[in-house]
Amino acid sequence: LRRLAQRKEDRAPPEAAARAFRELPGQRDMDLIREAAGALGLENPFFRAHEGIAGATTVIGGREVLNFGSYDYLGLNGDPRVIAAAEAALRRHGVSASASRMVSGERPVHAALEAAIAAHYGVDAALAFVSGHATNVTVLGHLMGPRDLILHDAAIHNSCAEGARLSGARRIAFPHNDWQAAERELAAHRRGARRALIVIEGHYSMDGDIPDLPRFIAIARRHDAWLMVDEAHAMGVLGPTGRGIHEHWGVDAREVDIWMGTLSKALCGCGGIIAGNADLIAWLRHSAPGFVYSVGMPPALAAASAEALRILHAEPERVHRLRQNASLFLRLAKEAGLDTGASAGLAIVPVIVGSSVAAARLSQALFERGVNVQPILYPAVPDSSARLRFFLSAAHEEGQIRAAVAALAEAVAGARAAEAAG
Ligand code: PMP
Repeated sequence: LRRLAQRKEDRAPPEAAARAFRELPGQRDMDLIREAAGALGLENPFFRAHEGIAGATTVIGGREVLNFGSYDYLGLNGDPRVIAAAEAALRRHGVSASASRMVSGERPVHAALEAAIAAHYGVDAALAFVSGHATNVTVLGHLMGPRDLILHDAAIHNSCAEGARLSGARRIAFPHNDWQAAERELAAHRRGARRALIVIEGHYSMDGDIPDLPRFIAIARRHDAWLMVDEAHAMGVLGPTGRGIHEHWGVDAREVDIWMGTLSKALCGCGGIIAGNADLIAWLRHSAPGFVYSVGMPPALAAASAEALRILHAEPERVHRLRQNASLFLRLAKEAGLDTGASAGLAIVPVIVGSSVAAARLSQALFERGVNVQPILYPAVPDSSARLRFFLSAAHEEGQIRAAVAALAEAVAGARAAEAAG
């Protein structure tokens, strides 16, 4: 009886568990933000449900608005050929791969997609994972270890930061795009490490700028380090035919040791890829936890991205159109006196407005004027550089871009006038 009573006491009541959930880090901040937003009359700009295909325009809350919030860089999400490819795979294989590929989840579309990605880069092989984020976490976490060194750009995506943390390697962030600082750190710390890896992105999603790839390649070679490039926002975007940052700089893709990319952006699917050396890919295929212990990519999505890649190669004019659209947006925004930071005008244009409240207000003002664009707020960026982030697409028409920048300039002017009036 005593033992029974003791066991009963050991069992915490459910309210205690619920209380602990309330005390999780960030919960109180979330409450404060919600209260402050309510007091300022701001609606939540996140989790807006799109009712159809989110293309150059989209329908939200029954209203058609211009859309600058989606990564559909080439305007292929909803392309009838992509949908037909997905449908054919869906009918042939069903919705799910139903197991890890190693076990019994392998389908011909997986190998076809990987061969097409490897050919895209002109490298030995490629491997497709079910999530872009999970690709970086599992590959970095698995490839590097406590005796190693990971040197990464300070603006690197969360997935790379998480993977680096998981690896247990020594991590050093160098200032954004500062290859000289990267080299100084490598010179100082390379000797104490077994392996070294430099991680950069092909096209940075917060600022819309790009790294000096030839410099990073040279540094990696000089210091016996691997170079990994996350091409999430560069595949299908950079270079005259959208091959990525290596094409932009005119370097052989084999100069980069590890190419990482996501299928969720220009290739309008879902998942991540790693491309490069045959031994690396074979090793990941047989041992990367996020690959071996995770279900295979849904066949329909693999088929959709393979078709999108085929269209990218067959219709390079899409890349040209995207470039024209982004550079027009950038030029008009600059002419309107807006702060577009370091954007190279390739596909992503931030408009920096100086505080999270100002960014949230501006996003709302634009939504009311018929433009969907999300703010990036603290802590994702420092409060002083809170921004709206515009994603351009090949699908945008010139008139839509002009209308969006006009609405933006008008909303900014309105906000400034309201501020001046106190
Ligand atoms: N890397 C970068 C640079 C990204 O921006 C993102 C997501 N936006 C990812 C990786 C993760 O990709 P996914 O959303 O396809 O999981």
